[in-house]
Amino acid sequence: MVKRSIPLVEFLRNTNGSILIITHENPDGDALGSGLALYKFLKKKGKEVYIASKDGVPHMLDFLPGAQEVIKPDDRFYDVGIIVDASGFYRAGTDVKVGKKIRIDHHIGGEFYGMHDYIDPNAPATASLVYEIIKSWDESAMDKDIATCIYTGLATDTGFFRYSNTTEKTFELARELVSWGADPYYVYTMFFEREKPNKMKLIARVLETLQLHENGLVAGVTVFKRFLDETGTTYEDTEGLVNYPRSIEGVRVAYALIEKPEEGVWKVSLRAKGDVNVGKIAERLGGGGHKYASGAKIEARSYEEALARLLSAIREELKLQKVHA
Ligand code: 5GP
Ligand code: MN
Repeated sequence: MVKRSIPLVEFLRNTNGSILIITHENPDGDALGSGLALYKFLKKKGKEVYIASKDGVPHMLDFLPGAQEVIKPDDRFYDVGIIVDASGFYRAGTDVKVGKKIRIDHHIGGEFYGMHDYIDPNAPATASLVYEIIKSWDESAMDKDIATCIYTGLATDTGFFRYSNTTEKTFELARELVSWGADPYYVYTMFFEREKPNKMKLIARVLETLQLHENGLVAGVTVFKRFLDETGTTYEDTEGLVNYPRSIEGVRVAYALIEKPEEGVWKVSLRAKGDVNVGKIAERLGGGGHKYASGAKIEARSYEEALARLLSAIREELKLQKVHA
């Protein structure tokens, strides 16, 4: 593989100040996997580096090497701030004071901070971009822990090598990471097979809310806050629920609408099956994401209002994208 020259590598090589790596709120496997891989690598390179996440580390990712070192964003000033796996610093969900802003990401569009950003919308995961950074800087610093973090980002963002962003290159990267010591069975069981019994109760409640729209092209579920209270679960446990409506035959757009009264919003997760661009639907709602996975926060006073706004954004995009049953 041809090594790309990456301006960010030269910049970080010459940085002696403090570096804050920050993930988006409610971090997923790619956000924490890519962030922790970069964090561990920069530490090895002798840099003063920190990693922060507004919502900490969710249970299914607490096995990641370095997870205990993730801090909550604080009031400190950092010379350099690097946002990973997000379309801008606004996605950190909190203000951070940094001198120079840098973004490492694979989302389409978003905010740009300058020539040291490292953005590639064709990358399967932000973690694969971090791997490129490490390879172009000093591959000998790769180790089992860093490989595990990168592998987790790559695996989770490709649905464990099932989604359409899974290509020959993805398997090639996975093969290299396994050769560095990443263990696919370990990552899979730690991520997927440590659910709490209460989560099953939540899934049962949520599946009852299943609705189909547009002749079965669209399906979704709703998570009312009371479901979380009644089953002893938290917002974190809503991760992945959107995959159930997506799994129905004929469904091209799936959503999960999640009540977040403490923020006064309804969070929507959108997933596509086939070639609908759900990133465009999220953009209509003031959010963003990728073609196949996106999200937004809808400010609405009632469930009915939130659902109506979501469905109208979906309908408009289906019409524009000429999607028919
Ligand atoms: P999820 O549905 O798993 O929360 O998010 C799916 C994708 O959409 C992720 O790539 C995430 O970065 C993006 N996304 C989710 N929520 C928001 C949001 O409120 N704003 C923006 N810009 N992107 C979001
Ligand atoms: Mn990602």
